[in-house]
Amino acid sequence: MTSETTTDAVKASEPAAEAVLLRSVSRVYGAAPHAVTALDDMTIGFRTGTFTAVMGPSGSGKSTLLHCAAGLDRPTGGQVILDGTDLGPLDETALTLLRRGRVGFVFQSFNLVPALTAEQNVALPLRLAGVRPPAAEIRAALAEVGLAGRAGHRPEELSGGERQRVAVARALVTRPAVLFADEPTGALDTRASREVLALIRDVVDRRGQTVVMVTHDPVAAAHADRVVLMADGRIAEELTGPAGSRPRAEAIAARMAALEGSC
Ligand code: ADP
Repeated sequence: MTSETTTDAVKASEPAAEAVLLRSVSRVYGAAPHAVTALDDMTIGFRTGTFTAVMGPSGSGKSTLLHCAAGLDRPTGGQVILDGTDLGPLDETALTLLRRGRVGFVFQSFNLVPALTAEQNVALPLRLAGVRPPAAEIRAALAEVGLAGRAGHRPEELSGGERQRVAVARALVTRPAVLFADEPTGALDTRASREVLALIRDVVDRRGQTVVMVTHDPVAAAHADRVVLMADGRIAEELTGPAGSRPRAEAIAARMAALEGSC
């Protein structure tokens, strides 16, 4: 038996313990003498079914980490393994297909298609994958985010919080191995933020969804199981709560302030 078939056999029987694994990943932009090291030999894993918040000062490498982990950007060194697949050898087409099927994204700006209804927006990833979206599945996805009654509404007819919940439903409709969220509450008021974060927490707890979320907000980060603080393209610190509980917002804010003070 070759090592390849062994890997496939393992993959078929159990999900990868790490939904995403970065091994010694570096990302350098530009060339000397103006090269910028956005990620500096970073090793980190995101275990299946866990919710991680990534924080750090502006320019610390959070977006680059998210983009490399999601296969949107290619590292200049190291290895990214997503859902058991090494992204390095994949060409652009294979990478696009893998992202489409195995990765979900939620952005600060929602990124819904304005001309499409909530229902059509949620169905879009399946259409792009060449699958005829089953109406019952789309309705269930909208019901799961509390928007069963809004299926026929276009984004302009929805509040910010509702738009983001449509975006979450759309990101999850392909049952991705990882949901990446980039400042998902950055454009929302406190109440809508709370709803969206509770929804993300719920999909982690109920269906074992793996989530990686970049945020500036300690209250948002306190919904995660673990908070990774970055500085200068590296992990400066990792926070979890006492005895496996979640880190508290006050503790996260204090560590962030200390980190920003020392930068
Ligand atoms: P963050 O998300 O924490 O603000 P980024 O990952 O966006 O940080 O950026 C990390 C570093 O890499 C910064 O110094 C930034 O200026 C640099 N950087 C990011 N993208 C590019 C790019 N496309 N070209 C050149 N430098 C970049």
